[in-house]
Amino acid sequence: MGTVLYASREPRGLVSPGASDDSYEGWTGNFSRNSTKDSIYAPNGQKPVRAALVALVRNEDLYDMRKSVRELEDRWNHKYNYPYIFLNDKPFTEKFKQGIRDLTKAKVEFGTLEEGTWGYPAWIDQQRAKEEREKANYIKGGSESYRFMCRFQSGFIHKHPLLRDLEFYWRIEPEVHYYCDINYDPFVYMKKHGFKYGWNIAPDEYEPTVRTLWKTTVDFMKENPQYVADKNILDWVRNKDNTYTKCHFWSNFEIVDLSFYRSEAYQAYFDYLDRAGGFFYERWGDAPIHSIAVAMFLQKSQVHYFEDIGYYHPAMSHCPKGSKEGGSCVCDPGE
Ligand code: GDP
Ligand code: MN
Repeated sequence: MGTVLYASREPRGLVSPGASDDSYEGWTGNFSRNSTKDSIYAPNGQKPVRAALVALVRNEDLYDMRKSVRELEDRWNHKYNYPYIFLNDKPFTEKFKQGIRDLTKAKVEFGTLEEGTWGYPAWIDQQRAKEEREKANYIKGGSESYRFMCRFQSGFIHKHPLLRDLEFYWRIEPEVHYYCDINYDPFVYMKKHGFKYGWNIAPDEYEPTVRTLWKTTVDFMKENPQYVADKNILDWVRNKDNTYTKCHFWSNFEIVDLSFYRSEAYQAYFDYLDRAGGFFYERWGDAPIHSIAVAMFLQKSQVHYFEDIGYYHPAMSHCPKGSKEGGSCVCDPGE
């Protein structure tokens, strides 16, 4: 895995022995690739697209987040210097902020979530939600915070004040790997081609987490036919017998034109789902929701598969087909 190659570059002695959890001694060595010399865009300068790398993350994810940022910097952003935005339901510690800032010369912003965007909306029966959690014997089935997270990423992340001026975001997470150098600006690429949604891995969703999501979507479309695109790609998510195929883009990697999430159609869809309560009575994920929205509201020509971006998130990975010849990738395309 990629990390092995980077072992020699990993900072050592990040926290001095005996230091309290909140004190942080940043590693001050210089990475050669972190110098401004090879920057295509200046670290604090304007970029051709108003865009950022965005992660929702907890303080305790610092070291896993650092791994992801380190790789993103090495593979791509040391040249492009797009800003990072980190969001958290709790205030970030100084240790977290410093631990990230030490890895990049790009601008980094940290924010907490707005009132009402994390937790239960008023109409949810919290007792029933608790009973459903206790019954749910699938991964993260018993977790309340995981459900808050899925609801936030589905309906609120694009509205956070720190993202308000952005045209595009690239979602990142702790513990992911970028296997190959990325030698162009994916934001410019998306914008130039009119792509609204960019993805990389598309697995099947686990059925018990989305038992009534498709039925709720069908009801939504019946009540709101005006939002469904003429040349939609619904056949990707809809079986012949009008059930959900379970196909979804894995949203831990996604590059999105945020006007899509800010659209009236997407907002109406999210509100409809939120009312139905499936974030809490089931465990609806932001990935199937984003994906079904793509299928309803976009056309095929607005969706881009980033086949060339080598990527790993725990449990699954994508290795570009041509990566053997490509030279810089550390994954095996045959695997
Ligand atoms: P998975 O990818 O579906 O297994 O879910 P993750 O546990 O990776 O969570 C998805 C993203 O949300 C990651 O970036 C996490 O760091 C973040 N996340 C998950 N739960 C919480 C939480 O309770 N608080 C905060 N601040 N971030 C969270
Ligand atoms: Mn994850």
